[in-house]
Amino acid sequence: MSERNYATQMEAARKGIVTPQLEIVAKKERMTVEELLPLVASGKVVIPANKNHTCLDPEGVGSMLRTKINVNLGVSRDCKDYDVEMQKVMAAVKMGGEAIMDLSSHGNTQPFRQKLTHECPAMIGTVPVYDSVIHYQRDLDTLTAKDFIDVVRLHAQDGVDFVTLHCGITRKTIDQIRKHKRKMNIVSRGGSLVFAWMCMTGEENPFYQYYDEILDICREYDVTISLGDACRPGCLADATDVCQIEELVRLGELTKRAWEKDVQVMVEGPGHVPMDQIAANMKVQQSICMGAPFYVLGPLVTDIAPGYDHITAAIGGAIAAMNGAAFLCYVTPAEHLALPNLEDVKQGIIASKIAAHAADIAKGVRGAREIDDKMGDARRALDWEAQWACALDPETAKAIRADRSPEHDDTCSMCGKFCAVRSMNKALNGEHIDIL
Ligand code: SF4
Repeated sequence: MSERNYATQMEAARKGIVTPQLEIVAKKERMTVEELLPLVASGKVVIPANKNHTCLDPEGVGSMLRTKINVNLGVSRDCKDYDVEMQKVMAAVKMGGEAIMDLSSHGNTQPFRQKLTHECPAMIGTVPVYDSVIHYQRDLDTLTAKDFIDVVRLHAQDGVDFVTLHCGITRKTIDQIRKHKRKMNIVSRGGSLVFAWMCMTGEENPFYQYYDEILDICREYDVTISLGDACRPGCLADATDVCQIEELVRLGELTKRAWEKDVQVMVEGPGHVPMDQIAANMKVQQSICMGAPFYVLGPLVTDIAPGYDHITAAIGGAIAAMNGAAFLCYVTPAEHLALPNLEDVKQGIIASKIAAHAADIAKGVRGAREIDDKMGDARRALDWEAQWACALDPETAKAIRADRSPEHDDTCSMCGKFCAVRSMNKALNGEHIDIL
């Protein structure tokens, strides 16, 4: 294979080079490479593809493409079996997760990370600040700025496609958080670690101070930066406040600096947001961050549904994606409560897929509606096999029907012989309709 003459997908696009990854993404999105190339060159679409993640099946992330979803997994103190976690990863990919974020927080995290980038075809993301404490096995305040940067480099070398870095908070944020008295302060795990480190050491945020060095690492391996939103609201009362917007403005500046070095960028967003504020949040991000893809964590549209936050997040995610978000981080029923198990993971993925797909239909993403139209045909024909083929989760659909099977095979036990579809088909065919 010939040596590649570009560092990142963005640089290639800017030079007019059609990379193998861009070609695959264009095909998946039903676009021509000529349509996709300028979007990658301008940063409106990212193709997270670390040059060391050779088994990657690449995806594009951008508001005009199919909305993608991310699944958070990883080993932790309470769930430390690599094989069990790897099974969850592969199940998540099978269910349609386009990205896996490895949030491992226990033991030696490198073998699991490397297993992911050697075996998993989905985009792999990490949050190096979590891993720093684990990697060095030292308390947070003993770590130096160089230690954090070295972990970013390690993740890049291991083949991670995107890294969440909380570069947007600074020492000024400490005063702001104190002054504005948010109800939930900072709820971002990585953001709280960076904040705590700044408070304990008296130093500036290393991910902000040494951003240029980080950009050089990301450029070398083509790691996409996911600019973390440390100040994302953790409850409705904190939504769209000064802390969140002030950080977003800095993320816009950092986006521009990354693009100057051809480094691909996504911007992370809220959080807990009332429905009436979601569209405005998307527009403000698009404007301040110049169209860089928006990666939203939810948003959760109410705070009072623990156990059902996959639903609160799917409602918010659908509205967000319809208004410009490109990438949804899944939320499971275990959010705010516990580490998700396999069933929680499944529920979270399905809820996010529904949100993403519903938004794609509303946005008019190419081909998005086709499967719904096929489902309509299958339902009219009472063709159950064809319905399973269109279903997002055919196993669950089949199991429900089998559990309450109808007397007559051509209907379902919901209305039995009162089946409207059956009556209409027969009426339009001039057939007799037997109800009693
Ligand atoms: S029985 Fe009722 S719910 Fe079932 S397929 Fe017919 S119309 Fe639909």
